[in-house]
Amino acid sequence: MAIDSKTNGHSNGAPKAPAELDASKLVISLAKELKPLPTPEELVFGETKTDHMLIVNYDPVNGWGTPEIKPYGPLSLDPMSSCFHYCPNVFEGMKAYVGPDGEARLFRPEENMKRLARSADRVALPPFDTKAVLELLKRFIEVEQRWIPTQPGYSLYIRPTIIGTRSALGVHASDSACLYAIVTPAGPYFRGDAKGISLLAVGESVRAWPGGTGGHKLGLNYAPGFLPQRLASKQGYDQILWLFGEDERLTEVGAMNVFVVAKREDGDIDLITPHLDGTILPGITRASTLQLAQAHTAGKIILPGVPANTKIHTHERVVTMSEVLRLADDQRILECFGVGTAVLVAPVGRIGWRGKDINLPVHKGGLGPIGNGLRTAILEIQTGVRQFEDWSVPVVSVDL
Ligand SMILES: *Cc1c(COP(=O)(O)O)cnc(C)c1O
Repeated sequence: MAIDSKTNGHSNGAPKAPAELDASKLVISLAKELKPLPTPEELVFGETKTDHMLIVNYDPVNGWGTPEIKPYGPLSLDPMSSCFHYCPNVFEGMKAYVGPDGEARLFRPEENMKRLARSADRVALPPFDTKAVLELLKRFIEVEQRWIPTQPGYSLYIRPTIIGTRSALGVHASDSACLYAIVTPAGPYFRGDAKGISLLAVGESVRAWPGGTGGHKLGLNYAPGFLPQRLASKQGYDQILWLFGEDERLTEVGAMNVFVVAKREDGDIDLITPHLDGTILPGITRASTLQLAQAHTAGKIILPGVPANTKIHTHERVVTMSEVLRLADDQRILECFGVGTAVLVAPVGRIGWRGKDINLPVHKGGLGPIGNGLRTAILEIQTGVRQFEDWSVPVVSVDL
């Protein structure tokens, strides 16, 4: 990246282009004392802090600095930092899984990296080499490997984060940033609730809107949902089913993508989810769910427990509350579930709407046949028990 000093009009010394993020510069300083590992029973999602963190800073003069893995601890930031005022903050959620063979694997991590880059771009944070971030995350997971629980359904949740650190109050893009990642061991998100989660359908406050930012993983999308969520729990519902528009379209369930499974007259199955119109977060579990259902119908894989000749037709389209009510009244809903990295597949038991509950079919263990087949297949791919495309990526690169 040579820059011609003459054409830049600088006489004493050419300005350097800000440095790219370089994973080979990684510096590792290990904690002197390691923390005791929690027992699987005492894990509460997102509360356990591990021994180390990954961190690298960007400034407009030098670009990306030296990436570091260092003992877990607080950040020290100027109170004027952009992240505290205007929220140019983005994040990802991914997991590392240890399979029966003892290998640690990531699930479609390039997709998380692409989405992180799109999120950063949306709030005008500096760009970065997504391959370098993935390489750094792999090194970080190797360092924290002992924190990956090995029980089935358990994993190490990974939270890459980028925050704007420009220390000035002017309302514009942050030209400085801090990229860091933390990890936390995670158990099955919803424990043994065979009834499924209860949803309150809410349309008077909305999570996202056309032309807004709901299609990106930005920190600022979540805080406005906290108050409606608290009101929903006071009424006895676990999560909000976010609606949008006069026709009360389903958008998402809490911070999960939503699916409705319906029986057809011809015996086939419809798998319906809202299309990506900018108000829906393009979930990697959502995309994988659609792809696996299509692969089952094409005979490329068989979803565990789903007959090979059962055709699943996928639909990305508008789904309204009146359609859900009609399908439920006609006994055509087989199941309804939310999907996302944290939960994988979470069954929905009932939906509160207009003062009444729509009760959905009860299945043994919570999930219906399609949700269970998808969940089992995804778990098998994540833990390396089953190969599908190149979705499962080892943490330790073969070329080391
Ligand atoms: C992260 C997230 C999802 C799920 O995305 P995955 O890539 O499947 O984890 C769905 N909806 C919202 C609002 C999210 O933030």
